[in-house]
Order: sequence, then C-alpha cells, then structure tokens
Amino acid sequence: MRELIRCARALVGGDERNDYAFVVEDGVIVSAGTYGAIAPHARDCEARAFPADRLVVPGFVNGHSHAYQILLRGWGDDLPFATWRSDALYKVVPALTPDDVYWTFAAAFSEMLAAGITTVAEFFYLNGAGNERAEAAIAAARETGIRLVFARTWMDADYAPSAFRETVDQAASRTAELATRYPDANVCVAPHSLHAASHEMIRAAAAFARRHDTLLHIHVAEAAYEGEETLAKHGATPIALLDRLGALDERTVAIHAIHVTDDEKRLLAERGARVVHNPMTNQYLGDGTCDVVGLRALGVRVGLGTDADVKPSIIDEMRAAALLQKLRAADGAAFAARDAFALGTSLGAQTLGVAAGDLTAGNAADFVVLGAGGIDPWSPAVNALVYRAQDAWVQATFVGGKRVYFGEPSAIARKAREEVASIARRLI
Ligand SMILES: [Zn+2]
Repeated sequence: MRELIRCARALVGGDERNDYAFVVEDGVIVSAGTYGAIAPHARDCEARAFPADRLVVPGFVNGHSHAYQILLRGWGDDLPFATWRSDALYKVVPALTPDDVYWTFAAAFSEMLAAGITTVAEFFYLNGAGNERAEAAIAAARETGIRLVFARTWMDADYAPSAFRETVDQAASRTAELATRYPDANVCVAPHSLHAASHEMIRAAAAFARRHDTLLHIHVAEAAYEGEETLAKHGATPIALLDRLGALDERTVAIHAIHVTDDEKRLLAERGARVVHNPMTNQYLGDGTCDVVGLRALGVRVGLGTDADVKPSIIDEMRAAALLQKLRAADGAAFAARDAFALGTSLGAQTLGVAAGDLTAGNAADFVVLGAGGIDPWSPAVNALVYRAQDAWVQATFVGGKRVYFGEPSAIARKAREEVASIARRLI
C-alpha cells in the first residue's frame, strides 16, 4: 500500500517546511518534497493530511533504555549510585518473571510512544536463565508497535545476581538464536561494561559483532570511579582499555562516555565509534556531563537515551542536552536547539544504525504529529520543540507508516499500567 502524507507544517533536517509531502510504501518514505512536486506522482495513493495547527516531526530516537527500571520510580530515587544498584535495582530484577517483563516493557514502551519515541534501543540484561525474558521484551515491542533495537547484554561479573550472569558460550549462542528468530528486533551485542563483563567476554563480544555484522553497545566511563579502577588495575582509562581489547571501532556504541580524556575523545573519533548521551539520567544519578560539543567537533556521532526511564521523553533529553552543554561551557552559544534536535532524531538514528530520523526518502516512515498551538508564530519551530514542548503536545505517533498512538492510551497500554501496579506491589 502506498500512502501520501501531506503536512501544512513539517520539520525536515531541523528546518520548517510548509506544504511538505511524502509518500510511504511498505513502511518506508520513498519520495518527499513540496506537495506540488510530489502529488502528481502519487495519484494512486491513499491520502492523509495534517493542517496548520499541527507540526509533523520525525519520530524521536531513544538510544539507550532499561525499561524495567520504571519499577524503581519513587522508592529508588535519591540514592547514591552503589546503593541504588544494590538495594533497588538488584532487589527487583532477579524476581521478574517473563510475564512481569512483558507487562513492564509494554507499559514503558507505551509511555515512549505517547512521548513521540518511535525507536528504542533496549539494553537488556535479564538473561541469566536463558532467552525467555528477552523474548517477552521483544513481544512487548512488537505488540505496542515501537521499533526495537535489542542490545542483548553479556555479563559475567561475580558480584552480579545470577539472574544476569552467563558464560561467554551461553551468551553467544543465546544471542545468535535471538538474532535468527527475531530479525525485526535488530539484535546486537552488549557486553555490559568494563566492570560487569570480563575482558575475555568483551573480546568475545567484539568478535561476535564482527562475525554477525552487528553493533556493540557498552556502558563506559559513566562514573569517575570506573576510570580510577581501570587505570589502577590495567594501566589504562576506559576508552583506551576498550581499544586495547579490540572492542573500539565503527561498531562500538559507547553509552555515556562522560569521564574521558581528550586523547580518548580523539580515539573515539579515529575509530569511528558512536556515543549515546543520557543527560536526564546522568543528572538523576549525579554522574557528570558528556562533552557533546567536543565529541561533535571531532565528528563523533552522538545520540540520546532515556536510560533509567524515570520519565522516558526525548523532548526532555534534547532540552537537557542543550542546557547542560551551555552550562558546561558557561556559554549560551555552545549548543543550539537544532543541534539538540539532531541528537534526538537523525544523528540518534545513525548512532543505532537505523535508517530513520528524518522525513526524507530512504528513511522509515516514523513520524510524530504535534499540536502546534504552543509554538509562538515568531519562533522557529525547532526552538519551540526543544525549549518549550511538552510530551503532551504529541497527538499521534506513526512507526513504519502505521499509527501506533493516537491521543488516548491503547488497550494494551491501559492493561500494562494495571499489571505493572500489581507487579510493583508484589516486588517492593
Ligand atoms: Zn544504562
């Protein structure tokens, strides 16, 4: 089926375009331009039009999430990182059944769709007992309609609960099985971090990524202690150590990359690695701030993630990214609204290796319809989106041309919300 989408107002590459149109075929934008140029070639299409009180924007790309962490909200707040991990996270996670995973993920993904997030990279580490929980998470994505990048974690540290831990062989064979069974889930490999995966496991994961042609996601340089530890134990700071382990190249998606030296920033750029920045969670956990300005100047692709999912909103992450870079540089001109918008859309998609993030030909037809009532007529739309927008401006969300959110919570979103409340009552 071919469909013609006509937008009185659209954001394309950060610029507002009027009477813009694009044709969607099999979930992908196959042509785009002014309505006058596109319409004569789209006479056979179904048509859908959005008037001037709406703004159509590319779907937001969430480069890093742990959806189950919505269960930690409230009671897990305001703790130092180590206590948060041991007393909140590790308390909840081992008790989650596959059914709990399904409903928790369905609830989190529904929240994301309602906030205009069309792609999520889920960094999933509940794998110790096999693939059952992973399959439940993948089913939740399929049934809510969000585009999934399933970053399948590998973890073998002694301190981790057995619900997480696997041998290298278990992790490799289970990951390969998931990738074969769920081609739509964009399965990639994710050795957890330099502290939770052994060097042997990280090397094996890098080899797996090359062999299976996938990306490799890894938490790295989130907190200052990590660099002190790797330097003392292995004589190298985290990015340099990843390089030494053969796990730093164009496949690498470095999650956080906060405490990195200037040499390491250059190394990230030289190796063609990508970075996902999580500014709201970094603030929430007191981690520090990634030097996005410096990394971008070196040409590193940077995306945004909602990480702890206290409030999964890429609108919030874009705003936080812009404000933190200004604060970091003590310079209001350090980072602009359109830079932040690129992180949340096109650059974010590049970071995940997904063809999406703009309303141009060749990209997935992932888009969001916003109410434009809050946009001052004298303001560029991209500035309004980054500095003023609320998730509540989202009126509809489309993934692959299919409408998956339309103002009200869906039946699955309502049911998931109830189920999660009872899961939380049981676990906490
Ligand atoms: Zn994370």
